[in-house]
Amino acid sequence: MDKPIVTSGLEKIYREGTVEVSAVAGVDLELNEGEIVGLFGPSGSGKTTLLSILGCILRPTRGSLRIYGTEVTGMTEAQLPTIRKRYISFIFQGFNLFPALTAHENIMLALKLKGITGTPAEEKSIAILETVGLGQRMHFLPRDMSGGQRQRVAVARALSVDSPLILADEPTGNLDHENGRNVMELLRTLATEQKKCVVVATHDNRIEDIFDRTMVMEDGRIIKEMRGSS
Ligand code: ADP
Repeated sequence: MDKPIVTSGLEKIYREGTVEVSAVAGVDLELNEGEIVGLFGPSGSGKTTLLSILGCILRPTRGSLRIYGTEVTGMTEAQLPTIRKRYISFIFQGFNLFPALTAHENIMLALKLKGITGTPAEEKSIAILETVGLGQRMHFLPRDMSGGQRQRVAVARALSVDSPLILADEPTGNLDHENGRNVMELLRTLATEQKKCVVVATHDNRIEDIFDRTMVMEDGRIIKEMRGSS
């Protein structure tokens, strides 16, 4: 069985005029299904860049990235959306919810983009919002929800499209301790029970114990890797 993610010698160099920034500087990774991995490191260490490359929304300058056995670095712009659609869900820091749509409508829209509409979409959206504890708030607009609730809608949306790979950038960034914990426990459950591969970029040390593995980035490299106790 091919692993969700295998990279070797992954590099990303940003060029601005004559200045070059090596944001990812040679990353070799193997991520397994059913595991939740924490990507730690100070601001500017390359976490978001690496996550964006893994999510096929940014191309590496060099190196190899295989998603479930398929080498994606040589793919054209026209081929990449197919990979993203089939395998990848993103949870962004700023939630990226549509402000004029309710929680339920935000999920319905994500499902529509996957080709799921009508009653199956309705049922799926309701079930998932209940899973994340928002059954009572499904018809609320984002502005009428707390940060924690909005983040749970973003998690629900990532779940609704049922991708095997979930990539989250600072998912607890704007949350208090309890809400951050709830979101992380939800992601942990998805890895354990649904065998998803979950990668979380964060600098929130309070959630370190959630992970199967943690990696620390510095200057675009993984300088330390630890296995968790869970
Ligand atoms: P982190 O997520 O750990 O804060 P980033 O991946 O955002 O790190 O950034 C890594 C490095 O790449 C930083 O030095 C940052 O300034 C630089 N960088 C990030 N995005 C860009 C960009 N679009 N253009 C130029 N430099 C960038």
